[in-house]
Amino acid sequence: LAQPGVQKLSPYVPGKPVEELARELGLDPADIVKLASNENPLGPSPLAIQAIQSALPELTRYPDGNGFTLKQALAERFDVSPAMITLGNGSNDILELITRAFVGPQHEVVFSEHAFAVYPIVTQAVGARAVVVPARNWGHDLEAMAEAITPATRLVFIANPNNPTGTWIGRGELEAFLERVPEEVIVVLDEAYTEYVEDSDMPNGLDYLSGRPNLLVSRTFSKAYGLAALRVGYAMSNPAIADAMNRVRQPFNVNSLALAAAVATLGDVNYLAESRLTNRQGMLQLEEGLQLMGLSWILSRGNFVAVDLGREAAPVFQALLREGVIVRPVANYGMPNHLRVTIGLKRENQRFLEALTKVLASD
Ligand code: PMP
Repeated sequence: LAQPGVQKLSPYVPGKPVEELARELGLDPADIVKLASNENPLGPSPLAIQAIQSALPELTRYPDGNGFTLKQALAERFDVSPAMITLGNGSNDILELITRAFVGPQHEVVFSEHAFAVYPIVTQAVGARAVVVPARNWGHDLEAMAEAITPATRLVFIANPNNPTGTWIGRGELEAFLERVPEEVIVVLDEAYTEYVEDSDMPNGLDYLSGRPNLLVSRTFSKAYGLAALRVGYAMSNPAIADAMNRVRQPFNVNSLALAAAVATLGDVNYLAESRLTNRQGMLQLEEGLQLMGLSWILSRGNFVAVDLGREAAPVFQALLREGVIVRPVANYGMPNHLRVTIGLKRENQRFLEALTKVLASD
């Protein structure tokens, strides 16, 4: 039998695959719109595709297990030393590595209600106790989270912005929290969506690394950099934390095509700018459409928005599937009345808005 914490977990539920729905509906996969997994709707950077093609002849070789070139590129970009960087098979891998390296069954891990679904998974997988702090206005209540820290607390997860709510934490609030956290508690600042945030008050986790040996900033190539399929995430932290994570890491956790594509995409500043622009415009389009429908939503700084249907969302999710539109129900996040919609291309957003209008009208 699995250990007690694991028995209480529900598995992570990914977005419904396009091919599966296309087959169910007897449609061409090209006619399905998937706005369910916070993916980048642009397709990958052309430089990533070129880099993968160049790396293909080396498929018989193991990847560079230390990710030398990618670490160098990240170190230059973010002005940190390579010894501060840990590479992961997606940032989910980073979240697991930090927990495996530092947390045991005697520990508590603090995170917010409505926060990213992987936090309870990695916590309970190591037999630790998850301390879930009630949210405030759907977002992290950092004061309450600081108060939830006990001598047994080993780690705190903070998502900024958070998924699935899109809520974010300003500079002052984050700084006040970091000041309160005891040094022996590791703070994982999950910045998976940070590249989308354009507010001047948005803190950059990297600004807080110096003098804070207990802080880890986690980021990913899956969102604004458009490489979700390849699974590349990275952490920046004190070298001592990176060293501990390196001890429990699978030797070749990031494959060579992923490493090559990540280096290439990191150098493609135009791609990042286009990702941001598409997201900004798509967010406005969705917000305007939702407003016209009289619906409300949680103000989001991610590449997605949680729409409040004012009633149970599951049947609406199912009806949208029948229209060929895949979004994400978030009842498993304690949000049974919301649907999370990823910002897509203009025509995809339009398809979603039309389908939602139709589904809600046919009630
Ligand atoms: N953190 C947050 C807040 C996320 O929403 C996600 C993606 N759903 C991740 C981390 C992990 O993404 P990946 O493993 O693709 O880097």
